[in-house]
Amino acid sequence: MGRPLIRDDLTLVEGYHSPQLDVRVRLNTNEAPVPPPPEFIETFLTVARGVSWNRYPERSAAPLRARIAEVESDGSPWSFTAANVLAANGSNEVLQSLVLTYAGAGRSVLCFEPTYALHAHISRVCGSAVNEFDRRDDFTLDVDAAVETISRSRPSVVFLCSPNNPTGREEEPPTVEALLAATEAVGGLLIVDEAYGQFAGFSALSLVAEDRNVVVTRTFSKTWSAAALRLGYLIGPTWAVSAVEQVVLPYHLDALTQLAGTVALDFDGAMRDRVAALVSERERLVAALAEIGVTQWPSGANFVLFRPPDGDGDAVWQGLVDRSVLVRNCSSWPRLSGCLRVTVGTPEENDAFLGALSEVLGSSTDR
Ligand SMILES: *Cc1c(COP(=O)(O)O)cnc(C)c1O
Repeated sequence: MGRPLIRDDLTLVEGYHSPQLDVRVRLNTNEAPVPPPPEFIETFLTVARGVSWNRYPERSAAPLRARIAEVESDGSPWSFTAANVLAANGSNEVLQSLVLTYAGAGRSVLCFEPTYALHAHISRVCGSAVNEFDRRDDFTLDVDAAVETISRSRPSVVFLCSPNNPTGREEEPPTVEALLAATEAVGGLLIVDEAYGQFAGFSALSLVAEDRNVVVTRTFSKTWSAAALRLGYLIGPTWAVSAVEQVVLPYHLDALTQLAGTVALDFDGAMRDRVAALVSERERLVAALAEIGVTQWPSGANFVLFRPPDGDGDAVWQGLVDRSVLVRNCSSWPRLSGCLRVTVGTPEENDAFLGALSEVLGSSTDR
């Protein structure tokens, strides 16, 4: 008797949370620093009046998928259709659905650590065995060793996050090619998580084709200023989209989210401008961090991973919180001892962060 026991294999799975503190400057979860354009909100509110509340939403989210395909093909050498796209409640739901479809119980996935903790977490919750391959100390990948590990461990799914969260590193095209070839050789699926793809140069979208075992996941949470919406998508071969469609719950994507996503895509130009502005702010932040004298790693995303000089990440994190600046404390994460991750914010927020950091580090050297 007593409370029902959770699955044995869940007892070791840790949750994934970033503290939601009430501070002035929030640079901890890589969101866009500003809301979507006001015209987006106006248009959305207008079309939302037309929702048939008593009816289930468009089951396959066809109009939204068609628009995503259009926008992702715009100005590119590749051309996708709605049949290459699957949308869900955040790219986390996309990732979970992919793992349920292609991995799940009795199969294994491979992650290149340190990386986005949700890849391993979601896989474990889905019952998959997780193999972790360590990146080098500078967080680059030893491609030959990674390929060898794929050949030997024969994972059903290989996760590659590029630009990688939390390190910021972008993978080179030959690396992605090599990992894809190795994954295909063992009949697996390569999932390239491009939550930060728009901030980077190369996109694995260029590799997506019917005869390639690769899908790319993207999200409205970072670039599209719409983390509140919970909307993400994958672009992949049509056979992968059809397979995942059998796994997602019926009507999983509500009518308002579908509408908001479709309207947001009309503001593509504004989003590209914002991405460009954030990239130039990132470069300013990187230069200022170098000036302050922290260790940092190259970033192709909208955040920067750094380690304060004395390596006391916890104390520096708290010092920043005391000055109403919240960054991500990664210092207790494997391989990231003493590290903090700061999201690129507005110029004012970045200045507030840099000022607070200088203060905290100044006072810590005075000790
Ligand atoms: C933020 C993030 C996501 C986005 O998840 P959503 O569920 O779309 O909000 C996915 N992957 C990585 C690596 C991220 O950092």
